[in-house]
Amino acid sequence: MKNRIDLREYQKFVKKIAKKFENRNEEIMTWGLGISGEAGDVASCIKKTFAHENDQKTGIRENIGDTFWYMAAICNFFGWDIEEIIGENMAKLKKRCPKGFATKKAKRKMTDWGEK
Ligand SMILES: [Mg+2]
Repeated sequence: MKNRIDLREYQKFVKKIAKKFENRNEEIMTWGLGISGEAGDVASCIKKTFAHENDQKTGIRENIGDTFWYMAAICNFFGWDIEEIIGENMAKLKKRCPKGFATKKAKRKMTDWGEK
């Protein structure tokens, strides 16, 4: 596979090239709006590919990368290690779905953000 990278290395790269802000609120709002926009682009490309039969798979792939960029920027803002967050997510999902997806588990309350 070409262009494979280490996520911590990627996070450092994002920090290096990201716009520098004097105002922290302006910074996190920029990253928050940015990730939403890129995720929306992913959704739009999926819709065009499957609902309009207009192949936008290249756009899906590119915008997934752009969404990752904002994820790394948000992690940098809070001083979080992106690999640690992914590890926490894997642990949560292994506990929630030890045998794979189950509809019953998917019906949990959406306010359970700190689920361990
Ligand atoms: Mg994009």
